[in-house]
Amino acid sequence: MDCIFCKIANKEIPSNFIYEDENVIAFNDLNPQAPVHFLVVPKKHYESLNTIDSKEAFADIFSAVPKICEKLGVKEYRTVVNTGESAGQSVFHIHVHVMAGREFTWPAG
Ligand code: 5GP
Ligand code: ZN
Repeated sequence: MDCIFCKIANKEIPSNFIYEDENVIAFNDLNPQAPVHFLVVPKKHYESLNTIDSKEAFADIFSAVPKICEKLGVKEYRTVVNTGESAGQSVFHIHVHVMAGREFTWPAG
């Protein structure tokens, strides 16, 4: 399957992981929207939030977020999961954006 995040997760494309465990990886976004902007990505391919098939998968992805933030000394942050093109999803392998280091406005644009 031609999926950029699968290739990153499989280490076919060399990347600097800021975190890795059995089920997820995290790496800095190529086009950061904040001083801190990384992506938490399951190693297993799920197209989006709509196709996650187990509570364990949710837990694996989301429980990594505060762990990584603690490691980075980040206490306040914005998490975003874009689902579908109209919501801004451009890579169809689920990922959680974690952004920090500036003020964020609400509602999101
Ligand atoms: P989406 O638009 O699907 O919510 O987010 C995809 C994100 O992945 C974008 O913020 C984009 O900058 C990032 N991205 C796309 N391709 C790559 C890549 O090859 N490496 C990294 N580090 N980030 C990527
Ligand atoms: Zn994938």
